[in-house]
Amino acid sequence: MARSSVSLDQLRDYVYCSMLYYWKDVVGIRGEKAPRTTLELASESVRQAWRIYADRPDTRMAEAVMMVWRTWLAREGVDGDDVLKGLAGYAQAMASILQGFESGRVRKADGSRYKQPRMSRQFTKIARSSGVPALAGELDRKLLPALRAVKVDHPLFGPYSVADAFTDSLRMAERLGTPAEAPQREAILAVEAKVQVRVGGWVLPAVADMLVIDDAGETPPSVFVEVHDYEFGSAPLARTVGRDLRLIAAVHMEPLEGGNLSFGAVSGVTYRHIRSGWTHRRRMAPGGRLTHVLEAALRGIQEGVYVPMFLTDLSRCETCLMKTPCFNPGGLDALEALAPGLASRAQAVGESVRVVAAGLSAGERKQLFGVLRRLAEELASRDGLTSDLPGAVAVMGRALQPVGA
Ligand code: SF4
Repeated sequence: MARSSVSLDQLRDYVYCSMLYYWKDVVGIRGEKAPRTTLELASESVRQAWRIYADRPDTRMAEAVMMVWRTWLAREGVDGDDVLKGLAGYAQAMASILQGFESGRVRKADGSRYKQPRMSRQFTKIARSSGVPALAGELDRKLLPALRAVKVDHPLFGPYSVADAFTDSLRMAERLGTPAEAPQREAILAVEAKVQVRVGGWVLPAVADMLVIDDAGETPPSVFVEVHDYEFGSAPLARTVGRDLRLIAAVHMEPLEGGNLSFGAVSGVTYRHIRSGWTHRRRMAPGGRLTHVLEAALRGIQEGVYVPMFLTDLSRCETCLMKTPCFNPGGLDALEALAPGLASRAQAVGESVRVVAAGLSAGERKQLFGVLRRLAEELASRDGLTSDLPGAVAVMGRALQPVGA
């Protein structure tokens, strides 16, 4: 189905894996119906903390994150102080274990350092002996039902508890809290601002993670758009960040028509990798070849072009929420996975032909079929014949034949 608008989140899904977009936004298997995962708790608490950070002049990001967790617990009637003490104890114990690895005090048998301490046996051994897994289990029993969250595996180091989410949210906040990294609070114009992106005849509803005033002397002020990336692992290379379609879309952002928020030109984009605290700021102008890539992705969405990631790279599929429909345990539906939508489109065409044919006389059916055949020949002579059109014409022809002819 042709679409005239698409959100930035949908665009990101489409570029990540077009099948992910297909299942979520075409078939309608909505992620939000699923309960929150423990992995989402960490990033969600930091997202919410940005608002508090922007609104309260004396609040550090780590304090803002604590306030978010306290609010969540209070809303669910959990004894906040007691539980927060447990969570803070877990975070402290984890920090001190990790500190041993990061300082080089704990090393491999050959004397080298661990690159991913949390994935090592040594880490598991030390953590067990200090009792942190037992504490995490105890907190999970209380907090998973209260927060309506499900425990999932971290893509790098396995089972991920609520206490791990709390610990990571604090670590992220601390990395963002250093003066060099934090955006100037007084310059923040809006957090999670509803905006629109105008590109190539498309208008996309989008959310700007943050708008930071660049030149307050202009009316309305020009802004830098912040793109907040909560992806796991280390920060991307600076030279690849500029190719992120979210950054390209960001320079095409403008205030929502009829909305309350007003800002002028977008002077550039600040990319923020939240888990590492790494930022990359660049002045950018609309236009350029990557704008065409953005338009090509939008065209792909409009034309229903889907290429499953599992054909080339299974690693993304392992942690994908849409693993179940893609790898249907009852047997992969080849039509749906490799040509998504074809099964339902074929059914719709068959049904339409039946309806049209029912109202036609034998002479009209013959005439219509003749016109269709001529149309296919004409398209073929102009290189405009799609490979499945002859098949479709044959199906129409059969359906238009009088019964028994
Ligand atoms: S399981 Fe793989 S192919 Fe399917 S939507 Fe997820 S990433 Fe794409």
